[in-house]
Amino acid sequence: MELRLYDTLTKEKRPFQPLDANNVRMYVCGPTVYDFAHIGNARPVIVFDVLFRLLRHLYGEAHVKYVRNITDVDDKINDRAARDFPGLPLNEAIREVTEHTGKQFHADVDALGALRPSVEPRATEHISEMREIIEKLVAGGFAYVAEDHVLFSPQAMNAANSTLPRYGALSNRSLDEMVAGARVDVAPYKKGNTDFVLWKPSKPGEPSWPSPAGIAAQGRPGWHVECSAMAWKHLGEYFDIHGGGIDLVFPHHENEVAQTCCAFHRERMANYWMHNGFLQVESEKMSKSLGNFVIIRDLLADWPGEVLRLNMLKTHYRSPIDWTMKSLEESAKTLDDWYRVAADAEPGQPATSVLEPLLDDLNTPLAIAALHGLRGSDISALAGSLRLLGFLSESAAQWEARKRQASGVDAKEVERLISERTAARARKDFNESDRIRDLLAAMGVAIKDSKEGTTWEVLR
Ligand code: AMP
Ligand code: ZN
Repeated sequence: MELRLYDTLTKEKRPFQPLDANNVRMYVCGPTVYDFAHIGNARPVIVFDVLFRLLRHLYGEAHVKYVRNITDVDDKINDRAARDFPGLPLNEAIREVTEHTGKQFHADVDALGALRPSVEPRATEHISEMREIIEKLVAGGFAYVAEDHVLFSPQAMNAANSTLPRYGALSNRSLDEMVAGARVDVAPYKKGNTDFVLWKPSKPGEPSWPSPAGIAAQGRPGWHVECSAMAWKHLGEYFDIHGGGIDLVFPHHENEVAQTCCAFHRERMANYWMHNGFLQVESEKMSKSLGNFVIIRDLLADWPGEVLRLNMLKTHYRSPIDWTMKSLEESAKTLDDWYRVAADAEPGQPATSVLEPLLDDLNTPLAIAALHGLRGSDISALAGSLRLLGFLSESAAQWEARKRQASGVDAKEVERLISERTAARARKDFNESDRIRDLLAAMGVAIKDSKEGTTWEVLR
């Protein structure tokens, strides 16, 4: 069995061959920390967590390095800081926003069962690497200084007579068409209308650092160069996998490739480019104006994180997902059942029937179908396979207790009613015992009698 992955650049699924099997390297674009993460943001987190776990299974935990950055310098952060903390100096307000949002992001993704990446670099801690890349690009003739900005020229890149990739190859666009179709109100300091910002001057009060390329004024980096710098620092000039949502292919990833390949004279930045499809909610695009904007934190108030995780993985990562209440309810039922039968079982090796579809470009819907198959045949393989996928982090008792707590059912009261019912049955008062059973059912509690006594569970 070999791992096969779909590469956005070459548009094909091909066998995964790590550049170094002792150090398999993956970079995924992380959040810009200015607001609560929504359920769409959870998709790359969960998808690439499954890939991280699978790579660790194949190559060993010590041989996989997963880097997911935190973008903590951005105009959206500055705007949010000024809006939410008008009394504070901007830099302090920005710290409040990024610290608070970063902590919330961690709480959310921990609850989704996502392992922390090996490294979580912050953009503000990698400014010198960004400056270094920018200096190389200017020296190589790919970037230029204009009015205290540094701009990258895709046209210079494509004119270079070398083994560089073609600008536009990743997103399958032609630079000539981009030039022809570009907006007319391009900033006057840009030489070409597709040139993009590597560095820009900071306004008074905004975060700022000494500028590269001989610019006297202080400034700050553009978004795209942040990822090129962090990936370089932690994974090198060329690594195995780069991931993110499909919306990042253009311009963000196209520009990352351009910066990294031109700075280091490389043909490729990553060997495999992987992109998750988009998520919509109840068949509509999620947006604040439509009022269907779902944040992870709010969902976690109603559902265990593993239910959200399973619900995400029921769809293949490259397909769009329609996130619905109905599907969530089904996922919750499935997990209740798996917890009941497998959480306390001795986990065996993950089953081949689960691994095979995972190795085929992370076919999680097929892997989940195989889990349903194991439910009737091999509980220990079911337990081992579920753990590989990041499920069963709790015991069956913890899971049930949490469900009771979330449902607002008073466990003591339930136990009291059950012993009253047991007493009624003992004295053959079946009217009374039926009355209590109905009462419990009305409270959302199902009971089951066996030789060992009466057990109960909360129905969702
Ligand atoms: P952002 O903070 O908007 O840069 O997004 C962080 C990550 O979430 C990126 O990988 C995006 O591609 C991804 N993402 C954002 N919205 C969605 C969505 N609706 N569905 C799937 N992925 C998304
Ligand atoms: Zn990025």
